[in-house]
Amino acid sequence: MLGRISQIIDSSVVDGPGNRTAIFFQGCNFNCHYCHNPETISHGNPKQDMELSEVVERIKRNRPFIKGITVSGGECSLQYAFIEALFLETKKMGLSNYIDTNGSLAFWELPAIIELTDGFMLDVKATDAKSHMELTGEDNAVVLKNAEFLASIGKLHEVRTVVVKDELNNQKTVEEVGDLLQEHLDQPIRYKLIPFRPHGVRTAYGHWQSPDLEEMERLKDLALAKGFKEVIVTS
Ligand code: SF4
Repeated sequence: MLGRISQIIDSSVVDGPGNRTAIFFQGCNFNCHYCHNPETISHGNPKQDMELSEVVERIKRNRPFIKGITVSGGECSLQYAFIEALFLETKKMGLSNYIDTNGSLAFWELPAIIELTDGFMLDVKATDAKSHMELTGEDNAVVLKNAEFLASIGKLHEVRTVVVKDELNNQKTVEEVGDLLQEHLDQPIRYKLIPFRPHGVRTAYGHWQSPDLEEMERLKDLALAKGFKEVIVTS
């Protein structure tokens, strides 16, 4: 079985809990204006294909040093059959499995993936449907349903929103994510707020501005007031 992979990072401490091997799949079904890795959006070419056994061997080599693996992208869930096969192998190694996703795939229709996954890190780029469409080129109905579904089964590890000055209604998104997850916030669901940075972004959107620290702190306070126990502002 082949997976189309853009990069493997053997040891990462920023892709889920603990030290993990992060596998970045090639290809994405969104086209976000602020994407920092626009080269991972295209569906790539056969030179990027790796056999499942090759990926498994690489993870085995890392096994003494890692707590688990995280699949990311691009949008990894587009290659869900490969992920299911990979997660079966990593579970046999006693590793935890995390998925970093844009939430566009109906996870409630994939019980095998749900069973094998310990936690999801889900982007909610905008709760407003029109803004989401403008930003990503896709609708957000499935994303929002995934947020609620994954929280309801106790597997939503983290929600992430990229904050852009003036271009997006960041306050509305943070408030509405809080409202959407309200009844699940007794769980340790983390909200990560990420300030937009122009580095790596396509030139057409390079003029977008980063929010200032005060704006990030204001949104953090808003998320805490909504009931999130842990809110992180990245640098
Ligand atoms: S979902 Fe992620 S990888 Fe896909 S276009 Fe958006 S930012 Fe880029």
